[in-house]
Amino acid sequence: MNHIDINKLTSNFPLVRDLVDLKEVVWFNPKVTTTDQGLPYVGLTQDDVIDAQARLQRFAPYLAKAFPETAVTQGIIESEVVDIPKMKVALEKRYNTSISGQLRLKKDSHLPISGSIKARGGIYEVLTHAEKLAINAGLLSTDDNYEKLFSDKFREFFSQYSIAVGSTGNLGMSIGIMSAKLGFSVSVHMSADARQWKKDKLRSHGVNVVEYEQDYSIAVEEGRKEAEKDPNCFFIDDENSKTLFLGYAVAGLRLKRQFEEQGVRVDSEHPLFVYLPCGVGGGPGGVAFGLKLAFGDAVHCLFAEPTHSPCMLLGVYTQLHEGISVQEIGIDNVTAADGLAVGRASGFVGRAMERLIDGYYTIDDQELYDLLSLLNKEEGIKLEPSALAGMAGAVHVTQAKDYLQGLSLDSQKMQNATHLVWATGGGMVPADEMQKYLAQGK
Ligand SMILES: *Cc1c(COP(=O)(O)O)cnc(C)c1O
Repeated sequence: MNHIDINKLTSNFPLVRDLVDLKEVVWFNPKVTTTDQGLPYVGLTQDDVIDAQARLQRFAPYLAKAFPETAVTQGIIESEVVDIPKMKVALEKRYNTSISGQLRLKKDSHLPISGSIKARGGIYEVLTHAEKLAINAGLLSTDDNYEKLFSDKFREFFSQYSIAVGSTGNLGMSIGIMSAKLGFSVSVHMSADARQWKKDKLRSHGVNVVEYEQDYSIAVEEGRKEAEKDPNCFFIDDENSKTLFLGYAVAGLRLKRQFEEQGVRVDSEHPLFVYLPCGVGGGPGGVAFGLKLAFGDAVHCLFAEPTHSPCMLLGVYTQLHEGISVQEIGIDNVTAADGLAVGRASGFVGRAMERLIDGYYTIDDQELYDLLSLLNKEEGIKLEPSALAGMAGAVHVTQAKDYLQGLSLDSQKMQNATHLVWATGGGMVPADEMQKYLAQGK
């Protein structure tokens, strides 16, 4: 553990004091630049995202077969965008403020296969690995119909190889279920926050679940060590993977098409604000990258974290990135938002995206529960606690007069705004677990 001089840190970075005190913090990054200036620092391009999209298209016939629930979308794993007008009114009342523009929800919570945003990146990385192995072995070409992967021959082929990952739950679900379906031998190293039902579900799919009493960083570290011992084992590195990141980024182009179909305009007169719950950063970072490529300067992304796990805000704000953890400033990293229970952010994502993310804020656990039950009451939509982190975003943005003025967004333009809350998980939470979540809300 590094030695962090907290007094020195707070004198240079006064907001750290509020983070330590577990207060809800909103920070707009003064170093944000235009999309043109910021994108080159990411180190990945539009072509990389188009390539990822094409790979998912190649696998679509396989997925439609292997997971019949994806047959309705021809094997494309995508979620709906819905209007949540009653929730908007309820938020205005709750926070005693008005929100200009429309409030919408991106329901990654209800993505097929694993019921969370991890069905984007996690599944994509497993498919990428499988494709590479099969092509190198001369068993597959990119012109083939990938339906053929759904066979004993391929399952047998993949069974020579293994995959490992460290996770707080949802990444393990996506990678575990996908890998096992293809025939891989797969180990998921689960941190203490991981819910029992997720472990049970994985075991029922034949996944080897390794449990830790420590947090996410330890689970990742141990998973990595375990994988290094076996040359046939591929370790999926949530903290640094560009492949995961690209899997998430495909969401940008997809959302652009969905908005076109729904007649939702996004341009300089019709700004789009997107609120993304952030754990280690790959999910929200990759999605934000895709959104910037798709919508340019018309889209504004904000990351949301629990007050007990503000790793990305801390890393970007202090510029220490992965060189600092929340534990090192005395925060426990214990939160009801298990998908966001990460103490040290991805340095890759923090650096790649810091010029393109407008702001970061934290939210209290009780607030997550209250919003969870409010959304259920107003709209009949059930999410897991992590997925509510974005729900406070529109309130923060509407109240940030200086920030909006800096963007030249007057009240007329704000009337045309779309606020998109990225709902990242919850669709597969068992009914009895959901009742417990709902009961926590006031
Ligand atoms: C993993 C996860 C996130 C955040 O993704 P990161 O890549 O860890 O930043 C958000 N919400 C839920 C429900 C998740 O499982």
